[in-house]
Amino acid sequence: MSQMTWGYACPAHIGNGHRCGNPASNNNEFGLCAECEKKEGVERAPKPDFVLVKVGINPGLASELRKFLPQKKRDVEKAMDLEAAHLTDAESIGRNPYAGRDQKYADNPRPQDADSGSCVFGRSTPMRMVSLAGLKKELENADLRFTGAHILERGKKCTLVMEYKNEGEAREMHPKLEEFLNAAYQEIFIWANGMNHMGFVNHTVNCSGRMDQGKPVVNLLFADGLWSWKLEEVAEPVGDTVTD
Ligand SMILES: [Zn+2]
Repeated sequence: MSQMTWGYACPAHIGNGHRCGNPASNNNEFGLCAECEKKEGVERAPKPDFVLVKVGINPGLASELRKFLPQKKRDVEKAMDLEAAHLTDAESIGRNPYAGRDQKYADNPRPQDADSGSCVFGRSTPMRMVSLAGLKKELENADLRFTGAHILERGKKCTLVMEYKNEGEAREMHPKLEEFLNAAYQEIFIWANGMNHMGFVNHTVNCSGRMDQGKPVVNLLFADGLWSWKLEEVAEPVGDTVTD
């Protein structure tokens, strides 16, 4: 099977809340990269203060969710502000903020998110067929609470954003949102971002292509902020097995 083709980013702390992000050398889940292996006193990057689970949704679904969720528009001006903040942050750790950008958007004049974070499972290959079932519990066990959700509208693109934070009051989650959080997705990217100007470390789980059919291949695990995954258990075949 090809499910293990994605890499794993080195979890060493390189300052300012950032995770190293070089490919881990030995391909084990918590392995360091070749560079960090040589360093002494390497610490692991801090766990996030915020986790944002983002799901790309179509306009029909967006209007359905708008019945109980607020909508935020990210206009061009706001996007530019955000972009500028990311640029400064990326440059503070000597990183190319556009390294992970999809080249097909290179000519798009609309500002996009510059990246200052590390893509936990590789930049170019998304994790595929991933189940989030169990993530909610793991986040809650790590004392991150659901503090709200909204729909982010950027041009024609709508995204459902669910927020988990280590501060603030926990809110009740609408059953519809719970469905999204328990679903499986065709593709997932996870970004471990460093400290923002407010001093918070945030991680983002970007999901697309909700799977209504087919079996997920892996389960995503929060792993106390390091992120990990395990293979879905394969069910025993059901049928007329003769046992004696
Ligand atoms: Zn490293």
